[in-house]
Amino acid sequence: MLEKIFNIIDDYDQIIIYRHINPDLDAFGSQLGLYYVFKKMNDKNIVLQGDMTSNILDYFDKFDAGHIKDGKTLGIVVDTANRERIDGDISLCDTLIKIDHHIIVDSYGNINIEVENASSCSEIIALLFQNACLDIPVEAAKALYLGIIGDSNRFLYSATSSDTFKAAAYLLEQGVNISEIYEPLYMQDKTDFNVYKYIYNHYHQVDKIAYYYLSDDDLKALNITREQGSSYVNTLADFKEFEIWMAVTEYKEKDCFRVSLRSRHVPVNVVASHFNGGGHAFASGATLNTLDELNDLIEELKGIKEYV
Ligand code: AMP
Repeated sequence: MLEKIFNIIDDYDQIIIYRHINPDLDAFGSQLGLYYVFKKMNDKNIVLQGDMTSNILDYFDKFDAGHIKDGKTLGIVVDTANRERIDGDISLCDTLIKIDHHIIVDSYGNINIEVENASSCSEIIALLFQNACLDIPVEAAKALYLGIIGDSNRFLYSATSSDTFKAAAYLLEQGVNISEIYEPLYMQDKTDFNVYKYIYNHYHQVDKIAYYYLSDDDLKALNITREQGSSYVNTLADFKEFEIWMAVTEYKEKDCFRVSLRSRHVPVNVVASHFNGGGHAFASGATLNTLDELNDLIEELKGIKEYV
């Protein structure tokens, strides 16, 4: 498959690499993993699309997002289930390749590489490189490793498979230094401590559903971004009394509320899709227009067959 992509690339002047809005480690990891490889191998104009202001990018090596020029354009969209979530304008592309690991709802590419059960999009890309016996730059290997550990929660989630470990082994062979990656990512500080304290003191429980809510004022008081506010969702994981746990954060700039839903056994993605969201069975995102909709969301979650 990679050979096919490389053959196609020859016909284009530039490659634009896209990923989804509200990017996470896997979105950036897949996007930058491809970027560093193409930059090294190609004389094409390589461009990264999407908002690049996230502090998640501190974990990655430096890059230049580049500028779109005229010319025959190949687009590659990573980690994005449906076209509405693509961060950028794909109408510029003559040909589009989709690489994704979410449930297939929209095969918007001219070529679609969709592996629903992969732990992460970064895993799919790493295995494409590995299967092609390609040596990749260490920056690319590091980006893809970050993507894998981000989406699998360091190999903890059930989507982790022997393929995940094969991809990780390949990336280590390409020069990834685990402690260099883990230390900045998992080292905690007093801000984390204060957020944990806040969550444990203020979480809500409705039946077997636990959630915390952070208003814009709370986020400011805790000195974290909205994105970071959601990222603490697993503070409520691993308690046997909670089947589903959620982070609800006020998204002041967009005048809405973002919900991150997680569960152990209860598939939450269909309910998420009723609230402007979607995602994986046990990890989904949703958006509420008002906080009142939270009660409707909770009621729907309680109605899921597996919840009972
Ligand atoms: P989050 O809680 O925002 O980290 O989202 C959890 C997972 O659900 C990630 O894999 C997201 O890519 C996916 N996701 C979040 N929002 C949506 C959406 N609106 N449509 C489809 N997938 C989503």
